[in-house]
Amino acid sequence: VQYYLNNIQTKAHLNAFVEVYEQSALAQADLVDQKLAKGNAGKLAGMVIGIKDVLCYAGHEANASSKILKGFESQFTTTAIQRLLDEDAIIIGRLNCDEFGMGSSNENSAHGKVLNAADENRVPGGSSGGSAVAVQANLCTVSLGTDTGGSVRQPAAFTGVIGMKPTYSRVSRWGLIAYASSFDCIGIFSQTVKDNALVMEIMAGHDEYDSTSSRKSVVPYSELLHFGKKAKVAYLKETLESPALQPEIKANTLAVLEKLKAEGHTVEEVDFPLLDYILPTYYILTTAESSSNLSRFDGVKYGYRTPNAHNLESMYKLTRSEGFGEEVKRRIMIGTFVLSASYHDAYFTKAQQVRRLIKDFTENLLNDFDYIIMPTTPTTAFKFGEHSGDPVAMYLEDLYTVQASVSGVPAISLPNGKDAQGMPIGLQVICNSFKEADLYAFSNYLT
Ligand code: GLN
Repeated sequence: VQYYLNNIQTKAHLNAFVEVYEQSALAQADLVDQKLAKGNAGKLAGMVIGIKDVLCYAGHEANASSKILKGFESQFTTTAIQRLLDEDAIIIGRLNCDEFGMGSSNENSAHGKVLNAADENRVPGGSSGGSAVAVQANLCTVSLGTDTGGSVRQPAAFTGVIGMKPTYSRVSRWGLIAYASSFDCIGIFSQTVKDNALVMEIMAGHDEYDSTSSRKSVVPYSELLHFGKKAKVAYLKETLESPALQPEIKANTLAVLEKLKAEGHTVEEVDFPLLDYILPTYYILTTAESSSNLSRFDGVKYGYRTPNAHNLESMYKLTRSEGFGEEVKRRIMIGTFVLSASYHDAYFTKAQQVRRLIKDFTENLLNDFDYIIMPTTPTTAFKFGEHSGDPVAMYLEDLYTVQASVSGVPAISLPNGKDAQGMPIGLQVICNSFKEADLYAFSNYLT
């Protein structure tokens, strides 16, 4: 703990941590020491973990990096975090992110931007930018993020670490401040596959507080990391032909596919005619869900309340106008529009239908193949401000991550070399629902 506290201090300018739990982390460390001496410590004894600022932790503030939650302190602890604490992990602090998880560069945070430790003029990715940089810069062993459309995998790719999004429903969402409830997943950043697998096997599993959490049993992923078979791998033609794809990322992805072939695995190209529809589907459905989820922040129950109100209605309006950032307001407006009576069928219902097509295509493909491989992102980490005036250019950064989110299947981003500027490149591996054990084993083989 002391080692990480020192690193956090020397690298404070990266702005990864919003709050460091120095005293409680040191106290927890003492307790774990005593348990270790007695021989009754848990499976994560002493593992130092940082948590994204959208996860509630009793007695601590949680802001979702929004002014509207300033001063909000949770009365309960996220189930996933409680399970880590029960195994004697040490929670060292809370990590910066895009406001309510909305963004791909961590530039939409009320706590300010996070710097990429590989090049401080570049973004760390988002929305879990602080969680990615915390692992990249050695400020904790493992961190928790959330992935609604890529917010663990994309920043992992931009910072050169491992980022895992499990199957939707594999990890309880109880305690996670909702962005888009039918997409949100708690995910993990780590330097090694083994750490990632170990933390996942502890967080995963049914939770009576989240009725959508799966009752399927959880296997010990970290003990099943040996990969001893021949894999059947698909890659989607359109993903590698996209004009948005940076040539070095394409080259490094093809190099992995060639290497797999040379090692005797089956690698086949598959057509994916739905690629163009994925981003619109994702952004219609997530804005719709978020406009509904964020209606609870009204100045009455949580956090910030405007001091400028003169009646109840102006209290609601001014609190929300002053409390939410620009991107969040944009999404609430888009979401309200696509759910409005005259446009519901044209947008929301249509997007639900397309979601089903994408999900069916992906699951069917994953019945025929063990894995789909593609780049995690079309580009490596870009410079601050490069996309901030252009929301659509920012949304395009999510081109490859949203398929797994729309389909609910697990996906991982693994480091796959660097570009000419020395910026990390990510490789994404996707497999069918609840096959986390296979995904971790193959990832272990690839890294
Ligand atoms: N960048 C995507 C968005 O802004 C993904 C965010 C996320 O996964 N939380 O919606």
